[in-house]
Amino acid sequence: MDEITLKALAKINLGLDVVRRREDGYHEVRMVMQTIHLYDRLTIQKSQTPGIQIHTNLSFLPVNENNLVYRAGKLLMDEFGITDGVTVNLVKRIPVAAGMAGGSTDAAAMLYGLNQVFDLGLSRRELMERGVKIGADVPYCIMRGTALAEGIGEKLSVLPPMVKCPVLIAKPSVSVSTKFVYQNLQLDANTMHPNIDALIRDIRKQDLDGICADTGNILETVTIPQYPVIAQIKEQMIKSGAAAAMMSGSGPTVFGLFRDEETARHALVDMKSSSLARQVYLTNIYNNRRK
Ligand code: ATP
Repeated sequence: MDEITLKALAKINLGLDVVRRREDGYHEVRMVMQTIHLYDRLTIQKSQTPGIQIHTNLSFLPVNENNLVYRAGKLLMDEFGITDGVTVNLVKRIPVAAGMAGGSTDAAAMLYGLNQVFDLGLSRRELMERGVKIGADVPYCIMRGTALAEGIGEKLSVLPPMVKCPVLIAKPSVSVSTKFVYQNLQLDANTMHPNIDALIRDIRKQDLDGICADTGNILETVTIPQYPVIAQIKEQMIKSGAAAAMMSGSGPTVFGLFRDEETARHALVDMKSSSLARQVYLTNIYNNRRK
């Protein structure tokens, strides 16, 4: 095989709690991760020119070692002494720096793709072990589906698949620094934590109403006061009939869960005409895991 084209799928957080701040500055989290069918496209080609060449449709993205695709490639190519080169064409649709693990899922696709193209024989678990060296979310992006992520996000437990439903994605034109959000998170006796255990019970019961009632993201307490447009997008989604609307990760992307396709399609039109968001997509829950 000389070439492979892969979908690198985005994630949303159906629930996100921060349990505590560790001595070393990292935060212990409990997150319910869910893959959605919104994706970047990665074409990986063997080439005669040594090294990793990356081409992308977004001119502001780095194409050197600051791109997670490059880091993923270098990690495997160094380990396996691969002297051929690779050319990667990365078509990005997942909003960048937006709480949807865009970079991590591209890195995951690169690991998966190089394993195929160079016939390295690594199992999914072995790819996940390498992925964590690139970022805490990468192992999850290799696995996909519904999962509980704990620790700093790298400890994964498989959950039963989430109820399939339409998902509206809206990203306003503000940039959020993940570091700023975590640094400004207040964790004390007054902090309201989302009930992740209740959310997991709802998922096990396939209870979409329960899921919608129990979604929660503790990071909204930092990001929303900073960027009120996030609250406006949530309100707009609810007004259009979303069963739940919440920020993903550290934001600013908001996702809405819908009970039916028709309401979701109208909500897409409403969101576009509101001009609250710069990137708007209608997609759905994706439950297939990688083998
Ligand atoms: P998370 O949900 O894990 O917080 P994110 O959506 O906040 O991820 P990314 O889209 O992964 O963040 O991008 C964060 C930063 O990483 C960007 O500023 C970008 O320059 C850099 N980056 C490196 N590689 C990539 C990539 N392949 N795609 C997008 N961003 C990348």
